[in-house]
Amino acid sequence: MSDETWRDSAFETRAIHAGQEPDPTTGAVITPIYQTSTFVQEAVGVHRGYEYARTDNPTRTALQTALASLEGGAWALAYASGLAASQNLMQYLLRPGDRVLLSDDSYGGTYRLAVRVLEPWGLGVDLVDMADLDAVRAALRPETKLVWVETPTNPYLKVVDIRGVADLLADHPARLVVDNTFASPYLQQPLAHGADFVVHSTTKYLGGHSDVVGGAIIGNDAAAAETLKFHQNAAGAVPGPFDCWVTLRGIKTLAVRMERHSANALAVAHFLGEQDAVARVYYPGLPDHPNHAVAARQMRAFSGMVSFTVRGGAEAAADLVARTRVFLLAESLGGVESLIEHPGRMTHASVAGTGAEVEDTLVRLSVGIEHVDDQVADLRQALAAVAPAALTAD
Ligand SMILES: *Cc1c(COP(=O)(O)O)cnc(C)c1O
Repeated sequence: MSDETWRDSAFETRAIHAGQEPDPTTGAVITPIYQTSTFVQEAVGVHRGYEYARTDNPTRTALQTALASLEGGAWALAYASGLAASQNLMQYLLRPGDRVLLSDDSYGGTYRLAVRVLEPWGLGVDLVDMADLDAVRAALRPETKLVWVETPTNPYLKVVDIRGVADLLADHPARLVVDNTFASPYLQQPLAHGADFVVHSTTKYLGGHSDVVGGAIIGNDAAAAETLKFHQNAAGAVPGPFDCWVTLRGIKTLAVRMERHSANALAVAHFLGEQDAVARVYYPGLPDHPNHAVAARQMRAFSGMVSFTVRGGAEAAADLVARTRVFLLAESLGGVESLIEHPGRMTHASVAGTGAEVEDTLVRLSVGIEHVDDQVADLRQALAAVAPAALTAD
């Protein structure tokens, strides 16, 4: 499934060409949207590689080839959502009685999938601060069959040393999965740091324009690919051809978008750090971030996600997120437009009262690629409107 033609080309070039050859029948430069559910056969079982679109579709094949190339994997499988990909991978890797070790600030939906959907089928779930390798070592049990790393984490943007976790697992049966959604393959390639599988919500940076939901698994293990492909078809949570096409279109500009997301986020993080109304800023690109050294080693830049706590309690946070104009109040992340949200009441509401709960004064930004001056001005006016009340409330 990998594309050898572009193997030696740079990331930017592969993003535009890998899996995306001009259409051989018409010369169309852009991969067509093969909007068909079935494919004609010349005789029973004699066809051009496609029979039925749940099993395979050429637009999906193009997306999978591009994703494998960008992550440096041998293969990729695309899904209808990031969680569909996660579900397929967890079901493939785990059996009743097994345990999965998750970050204590995992994506809420991943936590919910493990605890609410898979625990009733006999899965055990343990939470740990993955940025603390001693804690990871201590949390590993003989039944742990899967270590699920997110880095940077959501919403605290802790950075997990992927190589460090992989080394801990050298003598342990658990497989290492890295959810690379927050970094994207442009900034970080977990397979090269020892991960067994990479998972993406392509909904975020890969798609990049907040117009499609999708997911993917990427890996090198050929036997795993065969079984996962069987599961992909057997369970059927596949993306439609149009969704694959939109995602491919987004991928072509991934490199330039990630550069700008990262530059803008760094400037926004510096700005927030200087504000009295802001108690604490979480951004791995700041030198005082506890995992900055790991981030600098493992990532090309620090991505577009910034979290911070405000003074004045949960109400101040809720008030702030309703006052921005450039930063749209919405869940999700990774699009060209800036988003702001209140994790405690939005993305992370499902983990309230659990070990994965977040501070109620936390605000999360997905810093887009508008002009950074407009982003900063927007945050400045919103903080000024909230600050007087917030600062006296403390
Ligand atoms: C959004 C997200 C997911 C889930 O992906 P969907 O496409 O929404 O199903 C998983 N992990 C992370 C880190 C995410 O941000």
